Amino acid sequence: MDEKEKKKLPLGRTVSNCIFALKAIRIASPIYIFVYLASSVLMGFLDFLSETYLLRRIVNGLDSGEKMKNILIFVVILGAVSIVFYAALEWFWHVVSPRKQRRITAYIEKQLYRKSAEVELACYENPEFYDKYVRAMDEAYNRITGVMETLDSLISRIIALTANSMLLFIIDPWLIVFGLFPLLLGFFRKAEYKASHDLSVSMKPIDRRANYTKRTFYLSEYAKEMRIGGMYRNMLRDFRQTFEDYKGLMKKYGVKCAVLRYIQNVGLEVVTILGAMLYAVWSALAIGAENGGMSVGDCIVVLGSVGTISYCLNYLVQNLADFGEHALFIEDVRFFLDYNPKIKDGEKSAPADGGELVVSDVSFRYDGSDKDTIKNVSFTWKKGERIALVGSNGSGKTTLVKLLLRLYDPSSGEITMGGESIKSFSLSSYRDSFSTVFQDFKMFSMSVRDNVLLRPPREGDDELVINALKESGAYDKISRFEKGIDTVLTREFDDKGENLSVGEAQKLSLARVFADPTPFVLLDEPSSALDPIAEYTMFENMMRATEGRSVLFISHRLSSATLADKVLLMEDGTITECGTHAELMAKGGRYAEMFHRQAENYLGEEVTDNE
Ligand code: ADP
Repeated sequence: MDEKEKKKLPLGRTVSNCIFALKAIRIASPIYIFVYLASSVLMGFLDFLSETYLLRRIVNGLDSGEKMKNILIFVVILGAVSIVFYAALEWFWHVVSPRKQRRITAYIEKQLYRKSAEVELACYENPEFYDKYVRAMDEAYNRITGVMETLDSLISRIIALTANSMLLFIIDPWLIVFGLFPLLLGFFRKAEYKASHDLSVSMKPIDRRANYTKRTFYLSEYAKEMRIGGMYRNMLRDFRQTFEDYKGLMKKYGVKCAVLRYIQNVGLEVVTILGAMLYAVWSALAIGAENGGMSVGDCIVVLGSVGTISYCLNYLVQNLADFGEHALFIEDVRFFLDYNPKIKDGEKSAPADGGELVVSDVSFRYDGSDKDTIKNVSFTWKKGERIALVGSNGSGKTTLVKLLLRLYDPSSGEITMGGESIKSFSLSSYRDSFSTVFQDFKMFSMSVRDNVLLRPPREGDDELVINALKESGAYDKISRFEKGIDTVLTREFDDKGENLSVGEAQKLSLARVFADPTPFVLLDEPSSALDPIAEYTMFENMMRATEGRSVLFISHRLSSATLADKVLLMEDGTITECGTHAELMAKGGRYAEMFHRQAENYLGEEVTDNE
């Protein structure tokens, strides 16, 4: 949904979303919401009693000669209740509330995190879904607690409104006219709300752009390119443009908002409050209490009460608009939480020892693409077999790996493991059958141990981690760190953290394969940052250390394909050649041609190196 369309929900859905928010808070912390709202009811009453009502009582009491003692008793009781109430309130706000709020945040975030682990990868590539997802993540907590805060403010305003209206009605029913006048200003309030909403919608793309510019200045991943050529100046140019766009928007909407607000303020402050003031003074002085006019006490109370009523009515409307806005964002949260992943969980557990994996006539098309990326691919991956998947860039190798991992489901055709469709297995048990290293692997800001295990450590895991690091060739580097495998990677959260070079990080990511004895190993160009000799050695080690496991690896350097039992050549989404390295070389087809060309290149490099 485009931001522009995203203006209003039907009333029923708005109410339902607000109830959803209140229920979420109640589940996270059952009595919190009750105490929170009860305290504002009490505070509303106390405010009314200690401000408006007390003033009237004192002035009228003095006027009519009421005994001082009665007034004093009322003041003392009110004072005592206030002392106890405010002590309890401060304790609640500063001691109980922060704890409860953390709990609510944790509850909401946990649900969102769980869901985000469930949604399929395709969702990340769908901009509409992704926008909703990001909004849900960004706004969930604020909007859910926002409903409670708005309800709280609504309750205290309704109490103030009711108490003050009743009082005015008792004093002189005509006064209600002044109190209700602000409702007539609703048209201007609505127009102002629309203008400021349009402003904030139009600001969104500018904000996004400005945030992007900001990120390019402080994120380390941009630091190198930002220092090359004119990138820095390009970013400053973008920055100036966002500033100009911002100024344009302010010009368009700023004056409109100012005029609309001015009309409301004049209506409220001048017509309502000054009008009521004149009426009350006229009633008290020109008519007088003895002729049915107001007493001096009532006159003073009227001045305060009309202001309070106008103020409350004005904000009551604002509160209702706030509910509408919270509900819009909660809609995104609910959309995300209710999302039914298209990649469905099966019921069976994947066979612990893997078995044969068969890809039968599989085709796949990315959402929004007009042609298939994978076309009628079939092959068998026997138990313990090592397959090299080779082919030029963009031929579909990574896509095939993603299909094998069930990050996507094929558009047609089937993949089976141990004779059963992989769809029949639970996703977690199926994916747990694979150790995978992607080309764009990520290191987490956690210890080396966590980065290798990719799961919470268990007793005795240290040895496993160290052996895995030795196998992958990363231990040389890690053992030189003071804290060894306890070293935190990156310096984002730890001054003593270590940054690894791409090649070192790649070796560390390969250790993940050795630390997790899964039946299948998938390596998507895990060696792109290594030089040809280091890569060949790495693959040799890998083949030795994964003896008995089924391994499929993608590599650009065809020399490593010689280590595989079978080579699959992929071109434009289809497997065009399949066989052992020797068979394909003997065939003299495309693979052989590519192999010769690469060998010549390396030979050329060596000659140049030796010169
Ligand atoms: P390879 O791994 O052989 O380089 P890929 O599987 O990464 O090839 O990509 C194959 C084709 O699919 C490319 O044309 C690429 O642009 C396209 N492609 C890859 N990922 C996506 C995606 N998420 N959405 C749409 N098209 C994609």
